[in-house]
Amino acid sequence: MKPTPLKENWNFPSGEPDIRHHVVIIGSGFGGLFAARALRRVRVRVTLIDRTNHHLFQPLLYQVATGILSEGQIAPATRDIFRNYDSMHVVVGEVQQIIPDEHTIEVSQFGGPRTIGYDSLIVACGSNTTYFGHDDYRKNASGMKSLDDALFLRSKIFGAFERAEAEEDEERRAELMTFVVIGGGPTGVEMAGQLKELSRRALRCNYRQINPASARVVLIEGTDRLVASMGERLSRIAARDLSRMGVEIHLHAMVTAMQDRVVEITRADGSTLRIDAATMVWTAGTEASPLGAELAARTGVDLDRAGRVRVAPDCSLLMALDDLPGVAEVAMQSGAHAAHTIGRRLKGDDAMRAFHYHDLGTLAVISRFRACAKVGPIKVGGLPGWLLWLVVHVTFLTGFKNRVGAMARWAVSFIGRGRYERALTGGWASGSEPS
Ligand SMILES: Cc1cc2nc3c(=O)[nH]c(=O)nc-3n(C[C@H](O)[C@H](O)[C@H](O)COP(=O)(O)OP(=O)(O)OC[C@H]3O[C@@H](n4cnc5c(N)ncnc54)[C@H](O)[C@@H]3O)c2cc1C
Repeated sequence: MKPTPLKENWNFPSGEPDIRHHVVIIGSGFGGLFAARALRRVRVRVTLIDRTNHHLFQPLLYQVATGILSEGQIAPATRDIFRNYDSMHVVVGEVQQIIPDEHTIEVSQFGGPRTIGYDSLIVACGSNTTYFGHDDYRKNASGMKSLDDALFLRSKIFGAFERAEAEEDEERRAELMTFVVIGGGPTGVEMAGQLKELSRRALRCNYRQINPASARVVLIEGTDRLVASMGERLSRIAARDLSRMGVEIHLHAMVTAMQDRVVEITRADGSTLRIDAATMVWTAGTEASPLGAELAARTGVDLDRAGRVRVAPDCSLLMALDDLPGVAEVAMQSGAHAAHTIGRRLKGDDAMRAFHYHDLGTLAVISRFRACAKVGPIKVGGLPGWLLWLVVHVTFLTGFKNRVGAMARWAVSFIGRGRYERALTGGWASGSEPS
């Protein structure tokens, strides 16, 4: 942590130059947010850089895609979250390069380059969707990582029902009302469950030519279990509940081809199935941000199989940290730990304190009032699982207003059957696809 001359100096409101230790955090996701919060009581100035202007609560993206929550309810503006944190500057821009030898990063901001110097750097860039080498699938099956993905999918889903209502050809109508979700992890399970809820309950009595309840929702999983990380019992419960709702589940099935509106899967026995579907969602895999690979190349550290930088036990760059899952809790706890390490070093305490992850569990909603929850030793399904899901999500949603707003929407959508967020924008009626 050798201090170097900063390329950018800021002044206090009094005009005095602010020469406090400068911590730059890349990423305003869970890791960046918790690191910034932990630095609040440390005598440093902080620059938080992200290519978006918000903090995204990714676990609820599927609720934006299916019209339950609005985008603002899961993505509050970063500037607003830190409005009372005078020592923080929020910079919107995309980091292109990290140059550790010079203690600088290169940022692209509104098309122009910008160099920002740092004394300490926290890299919390998260991950991207991976198609496991089949990047051509991307144009047919949308990922579920960003707000753009969720809004695109929302347009696709509600647009598909509108088009189906106007479609006279039976085959084409069936294709419009078929939704394929690839990946049977928590996100895929939640997405498939919500698509069924939407078609069975929320859209009831809305159309005259089609029966939304007849929409086909297909969930494809490569292994022999859904939500495998939750253990065998909860996997069985998830599969049972989804099947009862009418979700068509294919386990041990791999996507072997995909074209416009058609996906081919190959099952364990070698048989293939072709599914015609206007909407496909890819939730099958994530890979670490490319910035990690760049950082590793420049510093000579290793990457793990998911492309994540291997870090020292205290989360600094040196050597390997146990392979932990890519979940929000890991990001929050390690982000805060990295910030505490910086704080301690500034006080002259260089002793390494290893990061210990406290696993708080995994949750996946199947339908209204039903979820699978693995929290510590507790593994529950059904209503108890859903209540746990509710408590955890209300606790972790950022901002009081968002919590109250989300609870109101959940009441409307789960007790009633309303979906507020269904507006289609752009040239839909004249036939243009969302882009
Ligand atoms: C659909 C979905 C559902 C999920 N459900 C759950 C769940 O139920 N429970 C759970 O524990 N976890 C869940 N996760 C995982 C969890 O959301 C992630 O583990 C967590 O968001 C990781 O936090 P992070 O801060 O590392 O990265 P992110 O939250 O991804 O944040 C990274 C940030 O870095 C920014 N960034 C990236 N590259 C650059 C760059 N070059 N320049 C500037 N900014 C950049 C991005 O814009 C982003 O804001 C889910 C994830 C998804 C996608």
